[in-house]
Amino acid sequence: MKFIFVTGGVISSLGKGLVASSLGLLLKSRNYAVNIVKIDPYLQVDAGTMSPYEHGEVFVTEDGGETDLDVGNYERFLGINLSSKNSITTGKIYWNVLAKERKGDYLGKTVQVIPHITDEIKNTLIEVATGFDVTVVEIGGTVGDIESQPFLEAIRQMKKDLGKENVLYVHVSLLPYVKATDELKTKPTQHSVKELRGIGIQPDFVVARAEVPLSEKIKEKLALFCDVEKEAVIEAIDVNNIYEIPVKFEKEGFGRLVTSRLNLQDRTAQISYWKEMLYKAQNPKKEVTIGIIGKYVELKDAYKSLIEALKHAGIANEAKVNLNWVNAEELEKDDFGDILGNLQKLGKLDGILVPGGFGLRGIEGMINAVKYARESNTPFLGICLGMQCAVIEFARNVCGLKGANSTEFDALTPYPVIDFVPDQKLMTNKGGTMRLGAFKASLLRGTVVNKIYGETSVSERHRHRYEVNNDFREILVNNGLIISGTSPDEKLVEFIEISQHKFFVATQAHPEFKSRPSNPHPLFVNFVGASIKSQRLRINPL
Ligand code: GLN
Repeated sequence: MKFIFVTGGVISSLGKGLVASSLGLLLKSRNYAVNIVKIDPYLQVDAGTMSPYEHGEVFVTEDGGETDLDVGNYERFLGINLSSKNSITTGKIYWNVLAKERKGDYLGKTVQVIPHITDEIKNTLIEVATGFDVTVVEIGGTVGDIESQPFLEAIRQMKKDLGKENVLYVHVSLLPYVKATDELKTKPTQHSVKELRGIGIQPDFVVARAEVPLSEKIKEKLALFCDVEKEAVIEAIDVNNIYEIPVKFEKEGFGRLVTSRLNLQDRTAQISYWKEMLYKAQNPKKEVTIGIIGKYVELKDAYKSLIEALKHAGIANEAKVNLNWVNAEELEKDDFGDILGNLQKLGKLDGILVPGGFGLRGIEGMINAVKYARESNTPFLGICLGMQCAVIEFARNVCGLKGANSTEFDALTPYPVIDFVPDQKLMTNKGGTMRLGAFKASLLRGTVVNKIYGETSVSERHRHRYEVNNDFREILVNNGLIISGTSPDEKLVEFIEISQHKFFVATQAHPEFKSRPSNPHPLFVNFVGASIKSQRLRINPL
């Protein structure tokens, strides 16, 4: 059992998650069994209750874990499914320790951060690492934060516990570039390594984030002051495409050095499939513009997996996907009942996507966007809330159910086509009222989704409370809505579509969580494909 601990210095948002993911990929491609864990030093038990504005997307795992978005990066880079166990928070650790205390597990002892919290951290890590050759652990936050101290103490102890050839520390730091003297500065990194040493951790590798390449002199200086080998100073300069990072690291010998430091046999990294994917991503043959009609559009991290899934679909279609962010509120009516002229903007889009979300704000704008997509025959993909908006729009404008709505937005709607289904069987014991994690769906033969998936039984991840109200299924279907997928017992609507349209598909699930660069999700691939086709038809109607 071997561990690689990734810490961060100087500032946050240095891309520690991408360093951890890339290292994971380099080891996995050497045929080692790799697991990867995110530690978040906040007090929440999981990320489920965090605001997407502050923390970005909540990434949902197969087992219904609500995790940090970095777990999504891990899954995409490593091409594996992780679980709620791969996300550890301070809240989770304290929760377990306090539960044990109440049970009397520590009877007679004083319960303390050291050793009780640190032991809980170590045991949790050992449990996730069991059965794997190497486990990469990313410690969120920046060295020096009060919050991360128990975690750093625990990982310090692990070198003693497991032996030095089984534990390795990677410190990701920033080299600011000073324009006036045209040089990269090493001082902040020196300080941050000093801080780390103060805790008792000597990094084995320093990954230096910088805007420009590191000169040999800078590498030597860092090696000297941080007390690492010169070749253990790994350059990480800004890239256009995050999927370049593992390839760059491999070129620098990072994978080879890490295996050697961990006393593992070095093997050739099998990453040609990754390089091919990257080549396609960097050499697109066409372009397509997809509009995302969302409410958290100021913070793109709130739609991280969605953006990546569209990127993957672009790669599969050999196309560059331009994302056009539309604030849903701008598509709502103003005080005079006019739509603020912005619907016209949708005209330049090749495809329209209404993503997931919670709460009333922007809903009417999303419904207007669906109406536009349906009537103008513009390819449309609705995800979770996007499907609910599509059902509301269809009910109002095709079935004539004026005022149809979801009870999430209008508790008194005369036609609650989307409603809360308090079926406890569906709930996990976490979160309480949400349908979370992977659920199976049966697809109707001959439908668009059936053709896209190529099968009749599929599984996708969920995160929502509301469902299509079965009382309205008949009227929706009688008016032409195709319910193309349901839960296996047919009680829940999972997919809808309409015919006589270039592409109009929506799902209650979040397929974006399962898309990988090396295995793009078929729903996104087909949506982007239809958008490319539709663009060609538009530009050249003959
Ligand atoms: N707010 C909706 C619900 O709870 C949709 C959630 C989502 O899009 N993830 O059902």
